[in-house]
Amino acid sequence: MIVEGLKAGYKLQTIGSSEEVGVYVDAVSGVSFTLYRNEVFGIAGESGCGKSTLIKAVYGYYEPSLVLRGGSARIYGAKGEEFDTTRMDRGLLEKRVWWKHMSYIPQSSMNVLNPTMRIRDHFAEILRIHVGMKKGEAYQEARKYLEEVGLPVDALSAFPHQLSGGMRQRVVIALAILLEPSLILADEPSSALDVINQKVALTLLREKQEALKNTLVIVSHDMGVHGVLTHRMAIMYAGKIVEIGRTADIFWKPLHPYTKALIESLPRLGDKSKRVGLSGSPPDLKKPPDGCRFHPRCPYAMLICSRAEPSLREIKEGHYTACWLYSEAVGEPR
Ligand code: SF4
Repeated sequence: MIVEGLKAGYKLQTIGSSEEVGVYVDAVSGVSFTLYRNEVFGIAGESGCGKSTLIKAVYGYYEPSLVLRGGSARIYGAKGEEFDTTRMDRGLLEKRVWWKHMSYIPQSSMNVLNPTMRIRDHFAEILRIHVGMKKGEAYQEARKYLEEVGLPVDALSAFPHQLSGGMRQRVVIALAILLEPSLILADEPSSALDVINQKVALTLLREKQEALKNTLVIVSHDMGVHGVLTHRMAIMYAGKIVEIGRTADIFWKPLHPYTKALIESLPRLGDKSKRVGLSGSPPDLKKPPDGCRFHPRCPYAMLICSRAEPSLREIKEGHYTACWLYSEAVGEPR
Protein backbone atom coordinates (compact mmCIF):
# COMPACT_ATOMS: atom_id res chain seq x y z
CA MET A 1 0.00 0.00 0.00
CA ILE A 2 1.25 3.48 -0.86
CA VAL A 3 -0.15 6.61 0.79
CA GLU A 4 0.97 9.88 -0.74
CA GLY A 5 0.32 13.39 0.53
CA LEU A 6 -2.95 12.39 2.19
CA LYS A 7 -4.87 15.35 3.62
CA ALA A 8 -8.11 14.98 5.55
CA GLY A 9 -9.84 16.79 8.36
CA TYR A 10 -13.10 17.93 9.87
CA LYS A 11 -15.23 20.75 8.57
CA LEU A 12 -17.08 22.28 11.49
CA GLN A 13 -20.34 24.17 11.49
CA THR A 14 -21.70 26.36 14.26
CA ILE A 15 -24.61 24.65 16.01
CA GLY A 16 -27.89 26.14 14.85
CA SER A 17 -26.31 27.74 11.83
CA SER A 18 -27.16 26.49 8.38
CA GLU A 19 -24.15 28.34 6.96
CA GLU A 20 -20.70 26.89 6.95
CA VAL A 21 -18.44 28.99 9.11
CA GLY A 22 -15.30 27.69 7.45
CA VAL A 23 -13.61 26.17 10.51
CA TYR A 24 -11.42 23.29 9.44
CA VAL A 25 -9.54 20.93 11.75
CA ASP A 26 -6.38 19.87 9.94
CA ALA A 27 -6.27 16.31 11.33
CA VAL A 28 -4.16 14.59 8.65
CA SER A 29 -1.84 16.98 6.91
CA GLY A 30 0.03 15.63 3.89
CA VAL A 31 0.90 12.18 5.20
CA SER A 32 2.95 9.72 3.10
CA PHE A 33 4.12 6.18 3.86
CA THR A 34 4.45 2.76 2.27
CA LEU A 35 3.34 -0.57 3.72
CA TYR A 36 4.78 -3.94 2.76
CA ARG A 37 3.27 -7.40 2.54
CA ASN A 38 3.64 -9.64 5.57
CA GLU A 39 4.29 -6.91 8.09
CA VAL A 40 2.63 -5.47 11.17
CA PHE A 41 2.84 -1.69 11.02
CA GLY A 42 2.04 0.49 14.02
CA ILE A 43 0.82 4.07 14.16
CA ALA A 44 1.42 5.76 17.52
CA GLY A 45 0.97 9.20 19.04
CA GLU A 46 -0.99 11.08 21.68
CA SER A 47 -4.76 11.10 21.41
CA GLY A 48 -5.94 13.73 18.94
CA CYS A 49 -2.78 13.45 16.80
CA GLY A 50 -4.80 12.25 13.79
CA LYS A 51 -3.95 8.54 13.80
CA SER A 52 -7.58 7.32 13.79
CA THR A 53 -8.52 9.89 11.14
CA LEU A 54 -5.60 8.70 9.04
CA ILE A 55 -6.83 5.12 8.86
CA LYS A 56 -10.43 6.18 8.30
CA ALA A 57 -9.19 8.26 5.36
CA VAL A 58 -7.13 5.34 4.02
CA TYR A 59 -10.19 3.09 4.31
CA GLY A 60 -12.37 5.70 2.61
CA TYR A 61 -14.70 5.88 5.60
CA TYR A 62 -15.87 9.48 5.44
CA GLU A 63 -18.42 10.00 8.19
CA PRO A 64 -20.22 13.35 8.24
CA SER A 65 -17.81 16.25 8.78
CA LEU A 66 -14.70 14.24 7.80
CA VAL A 67 -13.53 15.49 4.41
CA LEU A 68 -10.76 14.50 2.04
CA ARG A 69 -8.57 17.40 0.97
CA GLY A 70 -6.04 15.70 -1.27
CA GLY A 71 -3.50 12.95 -1.82
CA SER A 72 -3.95 9.28 -2.59
CA ALA A 73 -4.11 5.90 -0.83
CA ARG A 74 -3.41 3.02 -3.20
CA ILE A 75 -3.98 -0.49 -1.96
CA TYR A 76 -3.14 -3.71 -3.81
CA GLY A 77 -5.13 -6.93 -3.90
CA ALA A 78 -3.55 -10.40 -3.69
CA LYS A 79 -3.41 -10.57 -7.51
CA GLY A 80 -1.93 -7.10 -7.84
CA GLU A 81 -5.24 -5.26 -8.44
CA GLU A 82 -4.81 -1.57 -7.60
CA PHE A 83 -7.46 0.59 -5.93
CA ASP A 84 -7.07 4.22 -4.93
CA THR A 85 -9.56 4.56 -2.08
CA THR A 86 -9.48 8.37 -2.35
CA ARG A 87 -10.94 8.15 -5.85
CA MET A 88 -13.78 5.74 -5.07
CA ASP A 89 -17.21 6.48 -3.66
CA ARG A 90 -18.67 4.52 -0.77
CA GLY A 91 -20.81 2.25 -3.00
CA LEU A 92 -17.83 1.20 -5.06
CA LEU A 93 -15.66 0.67 -1.98
CA GLU A 94 -18.35 -1.53 -0.40
CA LYS A 95 -18.72 -3.57 -3.56
CA ARG A 96 -15.12 -3.95 -4.63
CA VAL A 97 -12.70 -3.23 -1.80
CA TRP A 98 -14.03 -3.41 1.78
CA TRP A 99 -13.78 -6.85 3.44
CA LYS A 100 -12.40 -8.41 0.26
CA HIS A 101 -9.12 -6.53 -0.11
CA MET A 102 -9.10 -4.36 3.00
CA SER A 103 -10.97 -4.59 6.29
CA TYR A 104 -11.26 -2.21 9.19
CA ILE A 105 -11.62 -2.91 12.90
CA PRO A 106 -12.82 0.32 14.50
CA GLN A 107 -12.44 1.30 18.16
CA SER A 108 -15.93 0.17 19.02
CA SER A 109 -17.04 -3.19 17.67
CA MET A 110 -20.63 -1.93 17.73
CA ASN A 111 -19.69 0.39 14.87
CA VAL A 112 -19.31 -2.67 12.65
CA LEU A 113 -22.07 -4.91 13.99
CA ASN A 114 -25.66 -4.17 13.13
CA PRO A 115 -27.64 -4.42 16.41
CA THR A 116 -30.69 -5.76 14.55
CA MET A 117 -28.84 -8.63 12.86
CA ARG A 118 -27.82 -11.97 14.32
CA ILE A 119 -24.07 -12.70 14.26
CA ARG A 120 -24.45 -15.44 11.60
CA ASP A 121 -26.17 -12.97 9.27
CA HIS A 122 -23.22 -10.58 9.42
CA PHE A 123 -21.09 -13.38 7.96
CA ALA A 124 -23.79 -14.40 5.47
CA GLU A 125 -24.16 -10.82 4.21
CA ILE A 126 -20.45 -10.40 3.46
CA LEU A 127 -20.20 -13.85 1.84
CA ARG A 128 -23.34 -13.21 -0.27
CA ILE A 129 -22.12 -9.83 -1.57
CA HIS A 130 -18.51 -10.78 -2.29
CA VAL A 131 -18.59 -14.51 -3.04
CA GLY A 132 -22.22 -15.08 -3.99
CA MET A 133 -22.49 -17.77 -1.28
CA LYS A 134 -25.94 -19.10 -0.32
CA LYS A 135 -27.17 -18.70 3.28
CA GLY A 136 -26.78 -22.32 4.46
CA GLU A 137 -23.23 -22.60 3.20
CA ALA A 138 -22.41 -19.14 4.61
CA TYR A 139 -23.64 -20.20 8.06
CA GLN A 140 -21.28 -23.21 7.94
CA GLU A 141 -18.43 -20.92 7.01
CA ALA A 142 -19.37 -18.53 9.85
CA ARG A 143 -19.28 -21.44 12.28
CA LYS A 144 -15.77 -22.33 11.17
CA TYR A 145 -14.52 -18.77 11.63
CA LEU A 146 -16.16 -18.36 15.03
CA GLU A 147 -14.46 -21.53 16.21
CA GLU A 148 -11.20 -20.22 14.84
CA VAL A 149 -11.39 -17.14 17.05
CA GLY A 150 -12.35 -19.25 20.06
CA LEU A 151 -16.05 -18.44 20.32
CA PRO A 152 -18.82 -20.96 21.06
CA VAL A 153 -21.07 -21.75 18.08
CA ASP A 154 -24.07 -20.55 20.13
CA ALA A 155 -22.82 -17.04 19.46
CA LEU A 156 -23.95 -17.46 15.84
CA SER A 157 -27.60 -17.02 16.71
CA ALA A 158 -27.02 -14.18 19.18
CA PHE A 159 -27.60 -10.50 18.56
CA PRO A 160 -24.54 -8.28 19.18
CA HIS A 161 -25.87 -6.84 22.44
CA GLN A 162 -26.16 -10.39 23.86
CA LEU A 163 -22.38 -10.84 23.67
CA SER A 164 -19.71 -9.33 25.93
CA GLY A 165 -17.38 -6.63 24.58
CA GLY A 166 -14.55 -9.17 24.28
CA MET A 167 -16.74 -11.63 22.34
CA ARG A 168 -17.97 -8.90 19.99
CA GLN A 169 -14.39 -7.86 19.33
CA ARG A 170 -13.54 -11.45 18.39
CA VAL A 171 -16.55 -11.54 16.05
CA VAL A 172 -15.27 -8.38 14.37
CA ILE A 173 -11.80 -9.93 14.02
CA ALA A 174 -13.39 -13.04 12.48
CA LEU A 175 -15.30 -10.84 10.01
CA ALA A 176 -12.14 -8.88 9.22
CA ILE A 177 -10.21 -12.03 8.23
CA LEU A 178 -13.16 -13.82 6.57
CA LEU A 179 -12.21 -12.98 2.98
CA GLU A 180 -8.47 -12.98 3.71
CA PRO A 181 -7.86 -9.34 2.71
CA SER A 182 -4.38 -8.08 1.88
CA LEU A 183 -4.71 -5.27 4.39
CA ILE A 184 -6.35 -5.10 7.83
CA LEU A 185 -6.63 -1.76 9.63
CA ALA A 186 -7.20 -2.03 13.38
CA ASP A 187 -7.92 1.12 15.39
CA GLU A 188 -7.13 0.68 19.11
CA PRO A 189 -8.39 -2.91 18.79
CA SER A 190 -8.01 -3.63 22.48
CA SER A 191 -8.62 -0.30 24.20
CA ALA A 192 -12.26 -0.99 25.18
CA LEU A 193 -11.43 -4.43 26.64
CA ASP A 194 -10.29 -5.68 30.02
CA VAL A 195 -6.67 -6.86 30.38
CA ILE A 196 -7.42 -10.54 29.62
CA ASN A 197 -9.50 -9.81 26.55
CA GLN A 198 -6.93 -7.27 25.37
CA LYS A 199 -4.30 -10.00 25.31
CA VAL A 200 -6.67 -12.40 23.53
CA ALA A 201 -7.62 -9.87 20.84
CA LEU A 202 -4.04 -8.78 20.15
CA THR A 203 -2.68 -12.34 20.09
CA LEU A 204 -5.47 -13.33 17.73
CA LEU A 205 -4.69 -10.48 15.35
CA ARG A 206 -1.01 -11.35 15.31
CA GLU A 207 -1.66 -15.05 14.74
CA LYS A 208 -4.02 -14.31 11.86
CA GLN A 209 -1.52 -11.94 10.26
CA GLU A 210 1.18 -14.60 10.52
CA ALA A 211 -1.13 -17.17 8.93
CA LEU A 212 -2.35 -14.91 6.11
CA LYS A 213 1.02 -13.16 5.60
CA ASN A 214 -0.85 -9.97 4.80
CA THR A 215 -0.41 -6.44 6.15
CA LEU A 216 -1.82 -5.49 9.53
CA VAL A 217 -1.92 -1.87 10.67
CA ILE A 218 -2.37 -1.30 14.39
CA VAL A 219 -3.29 2.16 15.62
CA SER A 220 -2.64 2.54 19.33
CA HIS A 221 -1.60 5.23 21.80
CA ASP A 222 -0.05 2.40 23.86
CA MET A 223 3.64 2.07 23.00
CA GLY A 224 3.67 -1.31 24.79
CA VAL A 225 1.30 -2.70 22.14
CA HIS A 226 3.66 -1.53 19.38
CA GLY A 227 6.71 -2.89 21.16
CA VAL A 228 5.19 -6.38 21.31
CA LEU A 229 3.29 -6.56 18.02
CA THR A 230 4.72 -4.38 15.28
CA HIS A 231 7.67 -4.77 12.92
CA ARG A 232 7.77 -1.12 11.83
CA MET A 233 5.98 1.92 13.10
CA ALA A 234 5.18 5.57 12.49
CA ILE A 235 4.98 8.28 15.13
CA MET A 236 2.36 10.96 14.50
CA TYR A 237 2.27 14.42 15.98
CA ALA A 238 -0.39 17.03 15.24
CA GLY A 239 -1.56 15.48 11.97
CA LYS A 240 1.87 14.63 10.58
CA ILE A 241 4.20 11.66 10.62
CA VAL A 242 7.39 12.80 12.34
CA GLU A 243 9.25 9.47 12.35
CA ILE A 244 9.03 6.07 10.64
CA GLY A 245 11.31 3.11 11.17
CA ARG A 246 11.74 -0.42 12.44
CA THR A 247 10.10 -0.72 15.83
CA ALA A 248 13.38 -1.75 17.50
CA ASP A 249 15.09 1.40 16.13
CA ILE A 250 12.22 3.63 17.26
CA PHE A 251 12.50 2.23 20.79
CA TRP A 252 16.29 2.05 21.07
CA LYS A 253 17.54 4.77 18.69
CA PRO A 254 14.74 7.31 18.34
CA LEU A 255 15.62 10.33 16.22
CA HIS A 256 12.83 12.90 16.59
CA PRO A 257 12.67 14.89 19.87
CA TYR A 258 8.97 14.01 20.20
CA THR A 259 9.67 10.29 19.84
CA LYS A 260 12.51 10.58 22.35
CA ALA A 261 10.13 12.22 24.84
CA LEU A 262 7.53 9.47 24.28
CA ILE A 263 10.10 6.74 24.89
CA GLU A 264 11.58 8.59 27.89
CA SER A 265 8.17 8.74 29.55
CA LEU A 266 7.69 4.95 29.42
CA PRO A 267 8.05 3.06 32.72
CA ARG A 268 11.12 0.85 32.97
CA LEU A 269 11.32 -2.47 34.76
CA GLY A 270 12.96 -2.05 38.17
CA ASP A 271 13.32 1.74 37.81
CA LYS A 272 11.22 3.45 40.46
CA SER A 273 12.17 7.02 39.52
CA LYS A 274 9.38 9.27 38.30
CA ARG A 275 9.20 9.40 34.49
CA VAL A 276 9.16 12.92 33.14
CA GLY A 277 6.48 13.61 30.53
CA LEU A 278 6.48 16.29 27.88
CA SER A 279 5.52 19.75 29.00
CA GLY A 280 2.81 21.70 27.17
CA SER A 281 0.01 20.29 25.07
CA PRO A 282 -0.47 19.47 21.39
CA PRO A 283 -1.46 22.44 19.19
CA ASP A 284 -4.99 23.36 18.21
CA LEU A 285 -5.39 21.81 14.76
CA LYS A 286 -7.85 24.52 13.79
CA LYS A 287 -4.80 26.80 13.69
CA PRO A 288 -1.60 24.73 13.79
CA PRO A 289 1.73 26.53 14.30
CA ASP A 290 3.92 27.41 11.31
CA GLY A 291 7.09 25.47 10.62
CA CYS A 292 7.58 22.32 12.66
CA ARG A 293 4.34 21.75 14.56
CA PHE A 294 6.30 20.48 17.55
CA HIS A 295 8.41 23.64 17.95
CA PRO A 296 6.40 25.23 20.84
CA ARG A 297 7.17 22.13 22.97
CA CYS A 298 10.56 21.15 21.62
CA PRO A 299 13.58 21.58 23.92
CA TYR A 300 15.88 21.75 20.85
CA ALA A 301 13.88 24.28 18.81
CA MET A 302 15.94 26.65 16.63
CA LEU A 303 14.95 29.75 14.71
CA ILE A 304 14.32 27.83 11.51
CA CYS A 305 11.89 25.47 13.30
CA SER A 306 9.15 28.11 13.59
CA ARG A 307 9.71 29.36 10.05
CA ALA A 308 9.99 26.33 7.80
CA GLU A 309 8.55 22.85 7.91
CA PRO A 310 11.08 19.99 7.89
CA SER A 311 10.27 17.17 5.46
CA LEU A 312 10.44 13.47 6.26
CA ARG A 313 13.91 12.27 5.20
CA GLU A 314 15.76 8.98 5.47
CA ILE A 315 18.51 9.44 8.04
CA LYS A 316 19.60 5.83 8.39
CA GLU A 317 18.53 2.86 6.31
CA GLY A 318 14.74 2.57 6.58
CA HIS A 319 14.63 5.16 9.38
CA TYR A 320 13.03 8.50 8.52
CA THR A 321 12.38 11.64 10.51
CA ALA A 322 11.14 15.18 9.92
CA CYS A 323 13.37 17.41 12.02
CA TRP A 324 15.83 20.23 11.32
CA LEU A 325 18.32 18.73 13.78
CA TYR A 326 19.35 16.32 11.04
CA SER A 327 21.07 17.90 8.10
CA GLU A 328 21.27 16.23 4.72
CA ALA A 329 25.03 16.75 4.59
CA VAL A 330 26.06 14.94 7.77
CA GLY A 331 23.00 12.88 8.67
CA GLU A 332 23.62 13.51 12.37
CA PRO A 333 22.26 16.03 14.87
CA ARG A 334 23.89 19.46 14.54
FE1 SF4 B 1 12.42 20.38 17.46
FE2 SF4 B 1 13.07 21.87 15.38
FE3 SF4 B 1 13.25 19.25 15.21
FE4 SF4 B 1 10.89 20.43 15.30
S1 SF4 B 1 12.41 20.62 13.69
S2 SF4 B 1 11.50 18.64 16.42
S3 SF4 B 1 11.29 22.10 16.69
S4 SF4 B 1 14.44 20.59 16.52
